[in-house]
Formats: sequence, structure tokens, C-alpha cells
Amino acid sequence: MVRPNQEPVYIGLGSNVGDRQLHIDHALDLLAEIVTIRMISSIYETDPVGYKMQAPFLNGVVEIRTMISPHDLFRKLQEIEIEVGRQPRFRWGPREIDLDILIYGDRIIDTPNLTIPHPEIHQRGFVLIPLCEIAANIIHPVLQKEIQYFRCSEPMQIKRVG
Ligand code: AMP
Repeated sequence: MVRPNQEPVYIGLGSNVGDRQLHIDHALDLLAEIVTIRMISSIYETDPVGYKMQAPFLNGVVEIRTMISPHDLFRKLQEIEIEVGRQPRFRWGPREIDLDILIYGDRIIDTPNLTIPHPEIHQRGFVLIPLCEIAANIIHPVLQKEIQYFRCSEPMQIKRVG
């Protein structure tokens, strides 16, 4: 019998080009066609990290359930990014939509094109704050610490917009 996969999977969403909310909504609609969406965080406006000469982002996190394997899910997220209209640009640059697998249950994956948990979760307020909102009690599988104990409330340029 095929059993539903109960592992919670968390996907980060970001956009800083064009109609950012529309891009996020479009990505969520496409995602809902292939996985079960369980929870969606608030959407936050955040200052860019790293390459700072770009427009502010909208960011959020969604919790899903799926039978799709991590690598297949990664490929499907890339397809959704393209369908939403992501244009190829330089790394860390502006993007119509960015979809990252943040956490996939308690799995640890370290391959050249896919690292799970996403390596920057615990350092980035724009991921931690929405993630804390919907998954404060889950344990980071590598760092073995609940998400709420990372710096979820770090003062930063982040503002809840919806
Ligand atoms: P970005 O410019 O943020 O879309 O970066 C995408 C790059 O991050 C791709 O080259 C992916 O192979 C890599 N990557 C590594 N781990 C992950 C992950 N967990 N989710 C999404 N992208 C990842």
C-alpha cells in the first residue's frame, strides 16, 4: 500500500522583480497542482542580503506534504520558476521568483546541486521569521535545534505585509 508521506516539507518563496505578490501567488497555485499545501506564512518585505543593489524582496514560507522525492521536487520547483517567468541572471541577483527547499522532513542531502536543509536557513531572517511563524517547533536535522531557538526575532529590515 502506498502511504501518504507525512514528512513536513518547507519551501521558501521570494520575489523582487515585477509584481512580486502576483509571482508568489502564481508559484503557490502551480505548487498546489502537484503537492498538498498545509500552511502558508505571512508575506514579509525584506531588504536584499548579499548583493544589496537590488529591490526589496517579498518572502514567505509554505509547508507542504508530498510523495515527490527531494530531487524530483527540486526539478519541479525549477520548472515552476520558469513558468512564473524567472529570467536567467547572475547568482544572488534579482529574481521574479525563487523557490528553495528549506527542510524536507529530517532528511540530510548534500549533493552538488541540492543541499537539504538549505544551508542558509539559520542565518537569514527573511527565511527564519516566516519559518518560525509556521514551524517554530521543528528540529533542524543538522543543527539539532528547534527553529524557534535560532535568531527568529533578530531585529532586521523585515516588515510583514500580508
Ligand atoms: P538561487 O539563485 O537561489 O535560485 O540558487 C539556486 C541554486 O541553489 C541552484 O544552483 C541549486 O542547485 C542550489 N541549491 C542547493 N540547495 C538547494 C535547495 N535546498 N533548494 C533550492 N536550491 C538549492
